[in-house]
Amino acid sequence: MNLLRTSVVFLLLPCAQAQILGFTPTSSAREAEVESKFKSIPNPAEERRQHRIFTQEPHVAGSKRNNELAEYIRDEWKKQGLEDVVIRRYDVYGTNPKSASLEMIAPTHYRATLREVPLDADPDSKNPAISGAWLGMSISGEVTAPIVYAHSGNPEDYDLLRRQGISVKGKIVLVRYSNPYSYRGFKALTAEREGAAAMLVYSDPADDGYKQGKVDPDGPWGPEYHIQRGAITYDFMVPGDPQTPGWASVPGAKRIPIEDAVSAPKIMALPLSWHDAKPLLENMDGPLAPANWQGGLPIQYHLGGERVKAHLKIEMQNGLQPYYVVEGRIRGSELPDEWIVLGNHRDAWVFGAVDPSSGTASMMELTRALGQLKQQGMRPRRTIIVCSWDGEEVGLTGSTEWGEQFADDLRQKAVAYINVDEATSGANFHGQAVASLAPMLEETTRTLPDPSGKTLYEAWKASTEREKEGKKSTQFSDSGAANGSLADTRIGSGSDHTVFLNFIGVPVLGLGFEGDYGVYHSAYDDFFWMNHFGDPGYRYHTLMSQLWGVTALRLANADLLPFDFATYANNIRQFVQDLAKANEKTMRGQPSSAVQSSETRQPLDLKQILAAIDVFEAAGKKLNDSLKEKLASGQVDPKLTLTLNHGMMQVERNWLNPDGIPGRPWFKHILYGARFTYAHLELPGLTEAVEKQDWPTARQQAEILQRALRENTKLLEQLNATLAQ
Ligand SMILES: [Zn+2]
Repeated sequence: MNLLRTSVVFLLLPCAQAQILGFTPTSSAREAEVESKFKSIPNPAEERRQHRIFTQEPHVAGSKRNNELAEYIRDEWKKQGLEDVVIRRYDVYGTNPKSASLEMIAPTHYRATLREVPLDADPDSKNPAISGAWLGMSISGEVTAPIVYAHSGNPEDYDLLRRQGISVKGKIVLVRYSNPYSYRGFKALTAEREGAAAMLVYSDPADDGYKQGKVDPDGPWGPEYHIQRGAITYDFMVPGDPQTPGWASVPGAKRIPIEDAVSAPKIMALPLSWHDAKPLLENMDGPLAPANWQGGLPIQYHLGGERVKAHLKIEMQNGLQPYYVVEGRIRGSELPDEWIVLGNHRDAWVFGAVDPSSGTASMMELTRALGQLKQQGMRPRRTIIVCSWDGEEVGLTGSTEWGEQFADDLRQKAVAYINVDEATSGANFHGQAVASLAPMLEETTRTLPDPSGKTLYEAWKASTEREKEGKKSTQFSDSGAANGSLADTRIGSGSDHTVFLNFIGVPVLGLGFEGDYGVYHSAYDDFFWMNHFGDPGYRYHTLMSQLWGVTALRLANADLLPFDFATYANNIRQFVQDLAKANEKTMRGQPSSAVQSSETRQPLDLKQILAAIDVFEAAGKKLNDSLKEKLASGQVDPKLTLTLNHGMMQVERNWLNPDGIPGRPWFKHILYGARFTYAHLELPGLTEAVEKQDWPTARQQAEILQRALRENTKLLEQLNATLAQ
């Protein structure tokens, strides 16, 4: 909601709480009371206590410790007063390391440590249960071959190598994590397609180490030995259990052979610290690597390919193993069959202090507060479901299987899904929302105090402006905020919201505080790091519990759901304009000549789409106005609200195309998708077709988009007609 609207209402109601999006004046006042009770409950000492429990020991997906933590969450939730608490088991294709070794055999001998050294200041770093270097879903194997440096391991890097006459066939490629960032699974697929025998991926100090600033234990950046673990699952093709693509891994489910699974990699891969990568890089021959391929080590990076030879052996134990999703709820007092779903993953590569245990601690304080409200007679109107996912780090597996299992229910009942993966690695708020929920998220942040003394909204605005000036993209995303708004409405993949948005068509929100964070997926992402750099006073953990809970409560208690489809329309228009701008030359076709048909000059005409967006926007504006009027009157007939709310919930479902986007049928959303790199990709089917200059497909995708726009316009017009009666 914009400031103007809030202040107008405030003037009308001088003594009352300002009206909240989706609430009548009376229910706004009641909601404000509920929220202020809720906000008073989470506290930093409890956040820290919970955080310590989750970061005590390594708890990778499928491990005994991670399963014990599932039971711990179940028991805590029962004590806190959550209802219908259950652990759901999915037997999925999991991944575990057995052993790995890497030895340079020429021109000199070097045996990679593949371990992270303990830091004196940090007791947890001495824990013998810390794993060595491994990447989830690598295959087992053994190879002796020359090493080639392939920069970021993206397709254009191999093109450059080819131009230099360097082939990677049968060789080991050494790539770095960033510059530019791409998901390691995409690097693995690219290496596999190029015919490489194996991929080594290392953390260059230019990206997340000493070139950025002080390293752990003196600062937040990655030290010499830090290893970024991670999975290389091709979940950009289809997430979840690779053997049950598109259906849930419940007992008796059909399982396809792993050889046929498109998301299962067929290459060996291992991560390295820069300590282990440096001896390889400094001994390489071949042409000098281009300037933008040079990294932060005090050496000259060469392309290699001949002189440095290594022997790599990886033994994995990949196969069926149980993953456990913990689920609990507070049943809604009035609308139990309308669901607000909240989720955070539990599994971590090692201790996972930021990723994900900061989110888990925030979730435990949130559920404690919800339980207390319920005990004080403040049950939400709609049902709030909370889930602790498993195996997010391995192909988003727990949430995907759960979403696939309950897809029919979710289609009927889900209002929204709110994801918190990493609650905090610093003080800068990053809020993501499908465009229809962006205004309500922004409004919610106005009511929360940030530790800086400003409101969260003001702090968010300030950090967004700083980010724009610095234009520093994080490993996850740049700020995808559309013009004038703070919420990032450009949502890619890489966390548990994916099944909700892309497979089921549930509107999603994603919340997180970010900061300098160079120990991602390493053993140093631990309790010491959080208490010295990430969030020493647990104030941002506490704020996250408050924000997450208040956002959920607003969706759960609203009289009329706070969707804003005019904002959605405006965002879709920007997506289309961005697509046109990025492909200006392509879309205009060949240089025009008088004899060319208009078809040739204009391979894809976006005018009709833009016109359809205008009509959808007009219907959305009208609905906003009518809903506002209805709410201000304070008279909302229950039967009418049911019709309106269910109509509004249907809008997101209508953005799905049952056939999916071309080549990736699991991803059904026509507005939101992700590139193989995990980067956000708006209008995925249309954009990919335009980029490939595949005009028949582009025209077909444009038609699908227009059809969905027409369908949703019709739906909003029906709601407007209902309201006018
Ligand atoms: Zn995570």
